[in-house]
Amino acid sequence: DGDAENTPIRLVKKSHADSKWSDTTPYTSRKKLQSWFQLPDGNWELGTILKTSGNESLISLAEGKVLKVNSESLVPANPDILDGVDDLMQLSYLNEPSVLYNLQYRYDRDVIYTKAGPVLVAINPFKKVSLYGNDYIDAYKRKTMDSPHVYAITDTAMREMIRDEVNQSIIISGESGAGKTETAKIAMQYLAALGGGSGIEYEILKTNPILEAFGNAKTLRNDNSSRFGKLIEIHFSDTGKISGARIQTCKITSSRVVQCSEGERSYHIFYQLCAGAPAILREKLNLKNADEFKYLSQSNCFTISGVDDAEQFRVVKEALDIVHVKKDDQDSVFAMLAAVLWLGNVSFTVIDSENHVEPMVDEGLTTVATLIGCNVDELKLALSTRKMRVGNDTIVQKLTLAQAIDTRDALAKSIYSCLFDWLVEQINKSLSVGKRRTGRSISILDIYGFESFERNSFEQFCINYANERLQQHFNRHLFKLEQEEYIQDGIDWARVDFEDNQDCLNLFEKKPLGLQSLLDEESMFPNGTDLSFANKLKQHLKSNPCFRGERGKAFSVRHYAGEVTYDTTGFLEKNRDLLHLDSIHLLSSCTCQLPQAFASSMLTQSEKPVVGALYKSGGADSQKLSVTTKFKGQLFQLMKRLENTTPHFIRCIKPNNFQSPGSYNQGLVLQQLRCCGVLEVVRISRSGFPTRMSHQKFARRYGFLLLDHVASQDPLSVSVAILHQFNILPEMYQVGYTKLFFRTGQMGVLEDTRNRTL
Ligand code: ADP
Ligand code: MG
Repeated sequence: DGDAENTPIRLVKKSHADSKWSDTTPYTSRKKLQSWFQLPDGNWELGTILKTSGNESLISLAEGKVLKVNSESLVPANPDILDGVDDLMQLSYLNEPSVLYNLQYRYDRDVIYTKAGPVLVAINPFKKVSLYGNDYIDAYKRKTMDSPHVYAITDTAMREMIRDEVNQSIIISGESGAGKTETAKIAMQYLAALGGGSGIEYEILKTNPILEAFGNAKTLRNDNSSRFGKLIEIHFSDTGKISGARIQTCKITSSRVVQCSEGERSYHIFYQLCAGAPAILREKLNLKNADEFKYLSQSNCFTISGVDDAEQFRVVKEALDIVHVKKDDQDSVFAMLAAVLWLGNVSFTVIDSENHVEPMVDEGLTTVATLIGCNVDELKLALSTRKMRVGNDTIVQKLTLAQAIDTRDALAKSIYSCLFDWLVEQINKSLSVGKRRTGRSISILDIYGFESFERNSFEQFCINYANERLQQHFNRHLFKLEQEEYIQDGIDWARVDFEDNQDCLNLFEKKPLGLQSLLDEESMFPNGTDLSFANKLKQHLKSNPCFRGERGKAFSVRHYAGEVTYDTTGFLEKNRDLLHLDSIHLLSSCTCQLPQAFASSMLTQSEKPVVGALYKSGGADSQKLSVTTKFKGQLFQLMKRLENTTPHFIRCIKPNNFQSPGSYNQGLVLQQLRCCGVLEVVRISRSGFPTRMSHQKFARRYGFLLLDHVASQDPLSVSVAILHQFNILPEMYQVGYTKLFFRTGQMGVLEDTRNRTL
């Protein structure tokens, strides 16, 4: 009767034998069958075919509407009995409207998780759903519950880690606001519950509020948007207990510290500090309300509805205690935050006709000097002059207003950026496995998803590149390696074509004529401009099928998830992200410990083999890695960690753009499903054999279940005997040269029996 609240989801038993793959079959000669019809607004509506003659069908839609339509425009719908199946693999007709409908059917009933073959699809409910907590954790642990869930996939990862003795990874992707960070936390909670005991799991969970405070911000799309990518590797001892963790991050710039647009906020921690610092700390750091700091007041947004920043400050402080960041260090951290805020209030006065400036000696300047532990005059010089080496002489050049503001902002960004890295390092020291590192690990990756806006800039350029890398990892595992393995093992198997994104990755990475190399090259030229960069791209890449030059300073890239047009305005500046050597020297001369540490980390960074030693004119500027190069390096490190793991994928989907519960925008969901190739994954899984095990391992694992004596004890004979004894149907498996291959779900029967017998 359509009452969403009361209709339970029908559980349908999996059966591959009778589910025909037929989404490409034209749906012309059927009568009285349900079918999808696309309305002019793009949404799909379910209709009943009344009559078909020739190329035309008469279809009855909702509210008594009857339409005559071209039969080929109809898409077959699944029988009612398949409404809301757990796994899209079970759909008889796998087409876009059926998938959309199935997901929506579940979503309307607060069932936000659905399997798409091996991938877990999670649709953001934007409200509390009762799917979590100890009772659920327990039920998944004891396997009394097995509907799709983050707990279920995490449980699988845990079991496979132990069973196969292979490290695992849970890779979470999706657009901003789709629910990645929440999903990662849910997975961590499950691991903590299963592998807890020593207390370290509690510390690991407490890294979340810390990193979110320093790395997340309110954006127009998400009130708690992560501005960094994170990989957390959770280590387990031989007995399956958590023994430690390691966090690796990947971020572009901290430009949000000095600039953020209307309606958005800077990183949460600034507001938390201003709202929640106790009186003594306020006085020590000369803290004011958030709206008195220029960096925070420019975007005209200070609070987030439903969030109490002062309370959050206490949560973060407690978390810092728990992960063993010493009180002194905490105070230094807060001092650095206050220094950044006060830097934003430093203003300049013009002192000559050439627009040269000097900082005003006011509360802003003196507070910064006190907080970082330097002399006011030195700070003044660092913010308004630049030392240049000319031959053997050093000359001092005065800065113009614009240059001085850039210098000030660059210093603020660098301090913040170093602070973030320093914190991660402290956390890692505290959670370090050290010599206890004996067992295996599960890594959870939460990284910003593909972004495509009206105006796309350098940040989107980096983010989307990262997503191309991730997509390749996904493709490789689900498609390429799969097919290669079948071929290698002599399995008879039909190829499924998939969208390979190697061309697009080449467009970014190729040397010397790829987007990144050309950007670094142009950033090195003192006279390079965004326009000259755009023109170079057009000149060198015009024949690349993934690239298109656009009018003016723009260019487009054909990403796996769609075409994105980038505006190169600010690309060079952001890529250089220069901090003057004078600023670094200032920090290293400070009496406080953190600024000194930051300075030395900046100096070591610039001493690394430099791919593009930037901006060497006059020898005044620090040579450092370009942002693109550094980002790429961090990304490669993340990917390297993932390489030798068994991946488990979770695709988060945002059902609407308003962060509002209950609203499901078909077009928006479809676009995201297409981006991540969900349909292809289901298709490949249905026609393939995703589970596999070597003959030896299979024989060792299940051999003891054999009732009859097997004449030959070689692993293959034992394996075949097991398959026979358990009546595994021939179409459900294939015997390869070295391995056995199974269709989804087949191993479950064997595992259950084994567990019962053990
Ligand atoms: P992302 O990391 O993908 O940008 P988040 O994980 O921060 O997105 O999720 C955005 C918001 O959506 C969260 O702040 C929360 O309000 C809501 N949300 C996400 N996942 C869930 C969930 N499983 N249950 C309830 N609310 C959720
Ligand atoms: Mg996030």
